[in-house]
Formats: sequence, C-alpha cells, structure tokens
Amino acid sequence: MKVKSGDMVFPGDFLAVSEELLPSEGTYDDNGKIKSLVVGEVERDDKNKSIKVISRFSTPPVLKTGTRVVGEVIDVRGQRALVRIHGIKGSRRALATYFVGGVHVSQAKKGYLSKLTEAFRIGDIVEAKVTRVMGLDGIDLQTSGRELGVIKAMCTRCRHFMELNSRDEVKCPNCENREKRKLSINYEG
Ligand SMILES: [Zn+2]
Repeated sequence: MKVKSGDMVFPGDFLAVSEELLPSEGTYDDNGKIKSLVVGEVERDDKNKSIKVISRFSTPPVLKTGTRVVGEVIDVRGQRALVRIHGIKGSRRALATYFVGGVHVSQAKKGYLSKLTEAFRIGDIVEAKVTRVMGLDGIDLQTSGRELGVIKAMCTRCRHFMELNSRDEVKCPNCENREKRKLSINYEG
C-alpha cells in the first residue's frame, strides 16, 4: 500500500523504499526502507522525490547523545538488553512516541561482566545514558556510570520489587531470593 500525503503514521511504519524517495524530517532509512521516526502526518513530495513526517506533537523532548533516560527492561538476550524508554530524566513530560534502546554487554558496567543477566532482568527499571541515536531501532544506551543502572529490580521468581542487599546484589522481601544486578547508587528498592 502506497503511503500518501495526509496519512497518519506511527514510529517504525514503512513509508517508501529509498530508491524511490529521499528520507527527510521525521524519518529514517532502515536498510533501504524509509520508516517513520515519529507519530505524525506524511508529507510526500513526488516532484522533489522526498518524504517527511510532521510530528503531531509541537515540542517533543528529543533523544540525543548524552540524554539521561529512564526505562523498563523488556528483554535480555545474548549481548543486548532491550529497554523501553519511558521518559527523559528530569522531565515530567512523557515521550510522545515509543522508543526502544539497547544496552550492549560491554556498555553495562565498568569491568568484566560474564552474563548480561547478572546486570539486568526483565521488569527492572533502569536509568541510562544515550550514546548513539540511529533511528528507532538504533538507540544505544550505556549504564556504566555510578548513577546509572538498575533503580528498581524485579524478582525473577515472584515478580516483587527487590531490596538493596549489597553493592551488586538485591534481595526479594517476598521470597528471599537473591540476585545480581548492575545497580545505580540511586537504587530506590
Ligand atoms: Zn521474590
């Protein structure tokens, strides 16, 4: 289906192939496919062979390198933990669109980490720093600073939030389970 001017699109929606049109504002090139970066309205310019998406939100907070974000771990697989970004640290505004960032095992903490599951688990809330933005699926995050890392850990056995036990360990008040994490000094428990 051909996307036309005035169509409402969402982040990640396919707009056109890059051989056909040039990606412009509000879009990104994903291996030859132009996709929308934002929630907004399509402006397709067939004369100048370009396509853009005008965001519906007037002043959305923008993610860029160095931005501190807070999010929830939604998957930990192999070398990468996926984080659904809820918001920008210090900003009460929710993000207008849905972003997912990734923490590579080498960016989780200083020093050696044998398994990413010793740093994060699904359901944890983390604070992280954006190190690179390359479209929707290309947001790289880092948690190796003292103030970065898990601020709320969820027990893998019973889904309760856990209490701080030591510098890199949390304990479940419900089932006594102990687990390792890359913790922020601002751990909230
Ligand atoms: Zn538990």
